[in-house]
Amino acid sequence: MKDDLQRLITIFDLMADGVCLINKDLTIEYMNSVMVKDFGDGVGHRCHHILEDRSEICHRCTATKVFNGEKLRREMYSRRAHKFYDIVEVPFVNEDGTTAKLSIYRDVSAKKRQEERLKASKEQYRDLFEHVGCGVFISSKEGKFLDANHALQQMLGYPSREELLKIDLPNDLYLRPEDRLKFIETIEREGSVINLEVEFKKKDGTPIPVLLTGHVRYDSKGKVIGYEGINVDQTQTKQMEREIRKTNDFLNNIIHNSPNAIMAADMRGTIILWNQAAEEILGYKTEDVVGKLNITKVYPEGMAKKVMGKLRQGNVRRKGRLKFYPVVLLKKDGQIAEGNLSASIVNDLNGKEMATVGIFMDLKERLEMERRLKTTQEQLLQSEKLAAMGRLTSQIAHELNNPLYGIMNTLELMKTEISPANNRRKILEMALSETVRLSELLHKMLTFSKPDQKEKQPVDINTILDEILLLHEKQFRENNIIISTELAAELPSVLASKNQLRQVFLNMFKNAGDAMPDGGTLTVRTAADDREITIDIADTGIGIKEENINNIFEAFFTTKSSVKGVGLGLSVCYGFIVEHGGDIQVTSELGTGTCFTITLPAYAHPH
Ligand code: ADP
Repeated sequence: MKDDLQRLITIFDLMADGVCLINKDLTIEYMNSVMVKDFGDGVGHRCHHILEDRSEICHRCTATKVFNGEKLRREMYSRRAHKFYDIVEVPFVNEDGTTAKLSIYRDVSAKKRQEERLKASKEQYRDLFEHVGCGVFISSKEGKFLDANHALQQMLGYPSREELLKIDLPNDLYLRPEDRLKFIETIEREGSVINLEVEFKKKDGTPIPVLLTGHVRYDSKGKVIGYEGINVDQTQTKQMEREIRKTNDFLNNIIHNSPNAIMAADMRGTIILWNQAAEEILGYKTEDVVGKLNITKVYPEGMAKKVMGKLRQGNVRRKGRLKFYPVVLLKKDGQIAEGNLSASIVNDLNGKEMATVGIFMDLKERLEMERRLKTTQEQLLQSEKLAAMGRLTSQIAHELNNPLYGIMNTLELMKTEISPANNRRKILEMALSETVRLSELLHKMLTFSKPDQKEKQPVDINTILDEILLLHEKQFRENNIIISTELAAELPSVLASKNQLRQVFLNMFKNAGDAMPDGGTLTVRTAADDREITIDIADTGIGIKEENINNIFEAFFTTKSSVKGVGLGLSVCYGFIVEHGGDIQVTSELGTGTCFTITLPAYAHPH
């Protein structure tokens, strides 16, 4: 019998569970090695001291029940051993017939902790599911939500989860039911979908753009039972995208429609922006420079470096900026563009230099405008001068006309009273001829100030020129002047006063004749384009001195003797031509010749 007990004890010692024997007065009679390891050797001590760490008997002490023959099983956490035990307690009859309690302590701490972890992680997952900011769903293959989180319910505007779980996904969720088919087709083929762009509709029918990411759920046999995933509401992102696009378009519009060249380059100098004005001013097409050309190529040598140097110096506030710096840039064709450059360095969020931007203002137009303004001012001054001169001339002519006629009449009267043989009569005739000359001069002066208002009609310039040249042919020949005509075959007519034009050409021919006392060539040329007719009257005469060329159109300017000229011819011509909407230009080289170019607006084209 003793041997049996000894064998039992040996077996107990080999067991992985703790074993202890407690006798009726609650003293520990035996502890196997596992038990001793967990609780220390407590044999001979009261069980509640050792196993429960209490000084008093436990109020839920099970010993009596066991002594009465019950088998118990319970779970207990021991603070002393820091372990969870699954304890089985059975009655054990001692050799002396007394009953003891045999307790088997199985350590279930690991299992217990595992269970707790599982529970905690399940709770965490549920928490995440419920509180994550985007919609999370589990759906069936047939098209119902099996579960959906609060965010999805909110996103789709359903008052309760129950109502959401009832909807028919293809028809009630998808704006276009075929999108669900596409989703199913992709997800089942690939196993998952990532960021599929679809449009859902809310309960009230409002469309809502969504990014759908999900994967397939399989059963244990690998059959598809449904899908799960997340839906991210894209309304705000789309709105933001639209706004960014709008702002971008707006900025692009400003950049591309700016009259100034706007250019940007990265820190290596590669051009990254080139607007339309840059194309126009510098001659490079955007597609040929962006990412391809270095910005230093549009500066003369060393200039780009100088600009960068200027940009980096200066006080802190102005640093990285340059305003209206005069520069020249090199155009594609090698020419230069002159203007002002405003530039700045663009930094990234960390303050690192990222790019340079330059705005170049081309001054060509402004300079041209200034030049045009100056010419206009000069012309205005000239016209004013001529007008004033005209008024004065007309007054003088008027004042002189009447007394002159008086004198002429008197002289005529006296002439009749003196016989032609008388010497005095010759003197009288000389005086009379001088008064006639004076009267002619006055007549010219009046014409100058008040161009005769003859009605204008369409006239052919070639015909007028032909007529005059024919009339004066003999005279020119006598003076050794060759006439060369190059008249355009078809000339538009001009709305003009024939008489005035005649007077203009006559005057010009006379001047040309005066300029060629030893003979020469008079060239008369006509040409036309859509808008105007050009008449060149060129001679090979003495030419005009440079200091005189600006004065020849002024009234009373003459370089001729008082017998030959009074200096009214050209100013009358000018007045006539301007009055016809035209202009007279002159080029002359001293000793070589002079060319007058008259332009008149075309009236009608020949048929
Ligand atoms: P005028 O012939 O009476 O001098 P104009 O007004 O016709 O007056 O001419 C003004 C001046 O312009 C002339 O005196 C002359 O110096 C100069 N001129 C005009 N035509 C010619 C010409 N074809 N060649 C050289 N000088 C010219």
